[in-house]
Amino acid sequence: MNDLLIRDAALPDGRAGVDLLCAGGRIAAIAPRIDAPATRTLDAGGLLVSPPFVDAHFHMDSTLTYGMPRVNASGTLLEGIALWGELKPTLVQDAIVERALAYCDIAVSKGLLAIRSHVDTSDPRLLAVEALVEVRARVKPYLDLQLVAFPQDGLLRSPGALHNLKRALDLGVDVVGGIPHFERTMADGAESVRVLCDLAADRGLRVDMHCDESDDPLSRHVETLAYHAQRLKLHGRVAGSHLTSMHSMDNYYVSKLIPLMREAGVAAIANPLINITLQGRHDTYPKRRGMTRVPELMAAGVPVAFGHDCVMDPWYPLGSGDMLEVASMGLHVAQMTGADAMRACYEAVTTTPAAILGLEGYGLDVGRRADFVLLEARDPVEAIRLRATRLAVVRAGRVIATTPAARTTLDLPGRPGSVSGMRPN
Ligand SMILES: [Zn+2]
Repeated sequence: MNDLLIRDAALPDGRAGVDLLCAGGRIAAIAPRIDAPATRTLDAGGLLVSPPFVDAHFHMDSTLTYGMPRVNASGTLLEGIALWGELKPTLVQDAIVERALAYCDIAVSKGLLAIRSHVDTSDPRLLAVEALVEVRARVKPYLDLQLVAFPQDGLLRSPGALHNLKRALDLGVDVVGGIPHFERTMADGAESVRVLCDLAADRGLRVDMHCDESDDPLSRHVETLAYHAQRLKLHGRVAGSHLTSMHSMDNYYVSKLIPLMREAGVAAIANPLINITLQGRHDTYPKRRGMTRVPELMAAGVPVAFGHDCVMDPWYPLGSGDMLEVASMGLHVAQMTGADAMRACYEAVTTTPAAILGLEGYGLDVGRRADFVLLEARDPVEAIRLRATRLAVVRAGRVIATTPAARTTLDLPGRPGSVSGMRPN
């Protein structure tokens, strides 16, 4: 018996009125009309069935800690890092696990079924690492959690950081992280990138560094990252996160830099909600936006994903696990309102991060994993516009979350019985 039959779905590639059949946790067929028995049938009613949302950049060890032990009064990146430093010694492993599981519940309800989370490896106790390794195993049936070893206090700046990072990798952390712009000098930053890329190459791991998260146009560690990706033949396995300094760089320099990233197969991960709030803080007016050059990177063939980065933590008091909100902010900040550009913003929270993470079996094709989301929207752009309700979230052919359609009953003079849905007919 088949697990699930979806009737009358629209797909992100423009196909409409198709059925999807799921069996054995995989997509068994996609066709205009499928006549096959299934344990459960869902009528999509012409609405969008999308592959699940993927968050390429998150911090699950600090999520949902907003206000502990105090709020970030200035709202700046550096006060956030200092606040996290105050909070770290008080962290308890069970509480990290509970908060992370609570966030994963929120994520699933929003159709977010794969997350790459950085985990701070600066604490020699590695409490957060052990906690998130446990969470990764516990959520595996319903969410793919990929962990990045992140030396928050600097690889060379903080004593023991490289040793602790290697211990984290030994415990099963998946990806090598870094923070070159936080090292004491530009030279140390470049050296940290070399050391970390060599380590990743030795261990056969991917790389994802916080890179140039700064308004300083001379913060050019992404150049070094691309150089070592090329040298070590890590094409397709390296990502630079944030890259906000690129916003402020000299245009001529960027015209050389972006092709080098493309040549080295380095992906870019922008975090629009966080970049727009943390960058430009030293400016008066005009204030810089801080987000990296998303449309220019995309036009050059560099894969660009949008990450959520933070939800209610020392750096960001807001956020809801909604990758459509992330896509919407990215779209607005980058002024990507052209039809193709808006669709590219949708891909930046679905297919592009799936490729950056190297997710197996992702996507709506026969033989792929039967993971998808039924949205209360007819196409990806409408989904972004409406932050569409996730009517059903499916993992391995099983419905794991449902949310009722958004409907408001109105009581208006002259319009008896009016009902307002989010979606126009
Ligand atoms: Zn981050």
